Amino acid sequence: MARDPRYDVLFEPVKIGPVTARNRFYQVPHCNGMGRSYPSSMAAMRRIKAEGGWAVICTEEIEIHHSADHSPWMGGRLWDDGDIPVLARMCDGIHEFDSLAGAELNYAGMMSANRYSRQAPMAPSHTPVASFDPLQAREMDKSDIRNMRRWHVNAARRAKRAGFDIVYVYAGHQLSTVSHFLSPYRNRRSDEYGGSLENRARLLREVLQDTKDAVGDTCAVALRFSVDELMGDIGFTSEGEGRDLVEMLAEVPDLWDVNISAWENDSATSRFKSQGYQDDYVSFVKQVTTKPVVGVGRYTSPDAMVSLVKNGTLDFIGAARPSIADPFLPKKIEEGRVEDIRECIGCNICVSGDHNFVPIRCTQNPTMGEEWRRGWHPERIAPKSSDDTVLIVGGGPAGLECASALGQRGYTVTLAEKSSELGGRVTNECQLPGLSEWGRASDYRAYQISQMTNVHCYLESPMTAQSIAEFGSDHVVLATGARWVASGIGRENPMGIKTSEAARVLTPDDILAGQTSNGPAVVFDDDHYYMGGLIAEKLRHDGVDVIYVTPATEVSTWTHNTLEQHAIQVRLLELGVKIITSHNLNEIRENGVVLHCGYTGKATELECNVCVLVTMRNPVDDLNVTLDVSKFKSVTRIGDCFAPSTIAAAIYSGHGYARELGEPQSDGVPFRRELPALAGDFLQEK
Ligand code: ADP
Ligand code: SF4
Repeated sequence: MARDPRYDVLFEPVKIGPVTARNRFYQVPHCNGMGRSYPSSMAAMRRIKAEGGWAVICTEEIEIHHSADHSPWMGGRLWDDGDIPVLARMCDGIHEFDSLAGAELNYAGMMSANRYSRQAPMAPSHTPVASFDPLQAREMDKSDIRNMRRWHVNAARRAKRAGFDIVYVYAGHQLSTVSHFLSPYRNRRSDEYGGSLENRARLLREVLQDTKDAVGDTCAVALRFSVDELMGDIGFTSEGEGRDLVEMLAEVPDLWDVNISAWENDSATSRFKSQGYQDDYVSFVKQVTTKPVVGVGRYTSPDAMVSLVKNGTLDFIGAARPSIADPFLPKKIEEGRVEDIRECIGCNICVSGDHNFVPIRCTQNPTMGEEWRRGWHPERIAPKSSDDTVLIVGGGPAGLECASALGQRGYTVTLAEKSSELGGRVTNECQLPGLSEWGRASDYRAYQISQMTNVHCYLESPMTAQSIAEFGSDHVVLATGARWVASGIGRENPMGIKTSEAARVLTPDDILAGQTSNGPAVVFDDDHYYMGGLIAEKLRHDGVDVIYVTPATEVSTWTHNTLEQHAIQVRLLELGVKIITSHNLNEIRENGVVLHCGYTGKATELECNVCVLVTMRNPVDDLNVTLDVSKFKSVTRIGDCFAPSTIAAAIYSGHGYARELGEPQSDGVPFRRELPALAGDFLQEK
């Protein structure tokens, strides 16, 4: 199909200093949990984005010196020449598709506890490091400043040798020493590097100029800067020093990559912010510089992108998450296939890989992070290896993804869903406050299978062991999901919670089905992801007095991994939810509950009408027990029906089944690993 001419502007080339981007799609730097430790995985992931049409593809943070060592986080590294080949591999892959490679060089200073290198960190002024490590960053003297400038130049030269076309100076997110110098609350110096904005910006100006002098003949020099820290007058604001700084350095970098900080503001989830949430902060930048400007805002709509360019807000459409959810987003717009875009749902599961030092994963894109290790391509999949037919029972995210990927392979697939809608838990959960964008996870897949003549979808079709046997497919896939338990069994209470028969106990499934409370409710969160907090929020919206109880020390503690914990706790407090942390729920009575302090064991009684237990789910796998498996070539459980987990895990499970059907299986590790692969190459060379 031809591209819609309305989108032509997105495919105009744009000059950035000495280099030219082939279009306006710009993958800004983003972490991926792979970096230097999973370099083949990282390079393959970036290469596929170039194939998918992104004109610029950047690295994550690259450490430039061993005295600013981010271990155990898996960023990039350019400490010495030995680090060049890994990044050269990424650049080569990007250049295969005529895209530009950008290197986000960073000296993290007080953000890095130097756990691996054991060097003393440095900062503009003496300060504890940002983590809780028992360690301080020492104040930099003039020779430290000269050294740091030289290290940046050395790293820039190495980046150029690796093949990068764009070299960054990073002054964003309060994650770099350059930004710590800029900061009025971190820089307490009284020399020419402290005090006025001109002085605090001196190091940034010097590093920018050094970088231009060192590599600016062939590489563009980009400045990544957070124009607003959302801290009011204490920090930078887009009406105050954020704007002053851009005006001051307007023409110095070849490109302005602008955003808001901290990271949780820049990568806000859809629960808290909608597409374009940064526009009001960054829109002034283009008015004060002639250099190209890139900004982000979880843009997935080409119409919104066009208006950003046409109304003079941005030159480049920056994206991290939209490029993760759909590495082929630009290609799909270019080929007139806008409805095939797999839109980011704004859940930040992608961030959790980085936080846990393992390769990135994505709810929408099950191939993310699997490009090298499993050879999974986001758009291509092997054709079917037989004419076998498949019956999938259950149209939640696992069943939908399985049907879609099997359909793409050419298998004849029947999907039977007992309710009147596709989507399973996604359809239910996206009714919760702030989660409407999550519906994209089922909408995208439902649309894909609606276009496939070999996938047949039946709603209001509850399947039984008998009807499955009568249907007579070769393979049966059970994707029947899971249900929250009402027993209280979970992490803290492996034997369940003592409950009086007269007590009213609900689960999240009951709340999602419309039940509520007429009086005060206790929500017991032993799950720690989003559900407990959201049930509390929903009940407050229903006008219920809510007491949220958790054995953890804070609300929804796992959501640190999605950058949401702080915002969730703020929201519950602002809604008037009473929060009790570090307490277990030990007994549920007719009109109340008994809690025990997790430290002292001291008991507290609370009155309530209803207790909502958010502890664990049991698979809905009764069909697996009752089916006569001998009648089929295979019967397989996927998604929550196999092992309850995230929506991302359900989609991954459905996708994995589809990839593997009819392919040879073994007992071995189902993916390649970096070090053994390297050892294999090494032995072959010998
Ligand atoms: P997952 O996350 O693993 O995809 P979900 O709970 O989201 O699991 O989806 C499971 C889906 O399976 C739901 O839409 C549910 O209505 C459907 N389902 C459960 N049991 C049956 C059954 N016996 N026949 C057809 N559909 C079923
Ligand atoms: Fe978007 Fe979620 Fe995928 Fe991250 S994990 S790219 S937020 S869909």
